[in-house]
Amino acid sequence: MFDQTYAQKLDVQDPLSSYRDQFEITDPDLIYVDGNSLGRMPKATAKTAQDLVQNQWGNRLIRGWNEGWIEAPDRIGAKIAKLIGADPSEVIMADSTTINLFKLAVAALRFQQGRTDIVTDNLNFPSDLYALTEACDLLGGQHQVEMIASADDILGPEDALEARLDERTALLTLCHVVFKSGYRYDLARMNDAAHKVGALTLWDLSHSVGAMPIDLNGTNTDLAIGCTYKYLNGGPGAPAFLYVRKGLQEKLRNPIGGWMGRKDMFSFALDFEPDDSIRRFLTGTPSILSLSLVEPSLDLFLAAGIDNIWRKSVQQSEYLQQLWHHYLAPLGYRFNSPENSQQRGSHISLGHEHAFAIDQALIHELNVIPDFRPPDNIRLGITPLYTRFVDIYQLVMRLREAVVENVYTKYEGVKVKVT
Ligand SMILES: *Cc1c(COP(=O)(O)O)cnc(C)c1O
Repeated sequence: MFDQTYAQKLDVQDPLSSYRDQFEITDPDLIYVDGNSLGRMPKATAKTAQDLVQNQWGNRLIRGWNEGWIEAPDRIGAKIAKLIGADPSEVIMADSTTINLFKLAVAALRFQQGRTDIVTDNLNFPSDLYALTEACDLLGGQHQVEMIASADDILGPEDALEARLDERTALLTLCHVVFKSGYRYDLARMNDAAHKVGALTLWDLSHSVGAMPIDLNGTNTDLAIGCTYKYLNGGPGAPAFLYVRKGLQEKLRNPIGGWMGRKDMFSFALDFEPDDSIRRFLTGTPSILSLSLVEPSLDLFLAAGIDNIWRKSVQQSEYLQQLWHHYLAPLGYRFNSPENSQQRGSHISLGHEHAFAIDQALIHELNVIPDFRPPDNIRLGITPLYTRFVDIYQLVMRLREAVVENVYTKYEGVKVKVT
């Protein structure tokens, strides 16, 4: 199983192999393992972009609002709902992930009168933590963020989080899959623990949506947000989504009220009365151009089936793990992700004493694009719709070459802007 023929055999057996053709791939030799930061572009997206600009905007002009634009946040949200186990009426496209986190966190804190604490972990995405601390400050400094530390920076501190939850807890907020190690939280367990003490839960699905089936309703999740430009291939800076459990929608106030969230918005009434539906969490006019480009990719996910995608992801990440053990561990590569695939999302981080220089050597000389997360994580995203088993094999061969052939040494001390 340690040669390329084995990888080729797996590709022949792969029921999803035909989906690679649906994506724009201009350099077949490039090993792109950054689809969890910026997914590849589906070919259908280029056609949609052309139609959007030439026809919808160029020709139809403002009539476009009555020809699909105004419903786009709900329509596209409903497609995401199918991937995350939610009702279509519980999901809407809006703003960016960070802004949605801010909106829902403030809404939850205002609702949870008398409770002061937001409980989270130190594996959370820093942007989320910034938005949370600013939200606390804005609400008068009565609230605080309690950050529970992971013992090894790999596994989520589930027991310690559970022990910390109490009647002061307003909100438990975590990333479903954490961005560095790829640890995957048990949604049902953490939701139950929070609900036992009367806390609400808010999950960031940025690193799990589109990678695996998620069951927000089945796990009693209260609130969630997520990103569409990673696994969902929505394009750079594509708008995000938010989810609010049905029974909570009427109880929560959107702290950034705006006309798109008003009941009967074209009444232009001077007072703010929130819409009855999930649209109350909208604020201003959505960016129709980038919002519309999320949809063609979602149609691919719905056709391929998220269960099938996840099955292949697990198979590929376990294959990568075996190759790591055989070829890379002896060269000083560490496994900075959970060893049990049941505790992972769809990426694996490898550590190395020279991780950053290796990352640069991969990009500049070995035609591999991973990303790098400090202090020492070479992060490898697995995106089954367009990644073949031979790509995983080649990836490992090039990681090996970077060290065996000392390709990395000339990149020591190099600094770059975007990693
Ligand atoms: C990528 C990512 C975001 C992105 O937030 P933006 O508002 O789009 O910049 C947020 N949270 C997590 C966990 C992410 O991985």
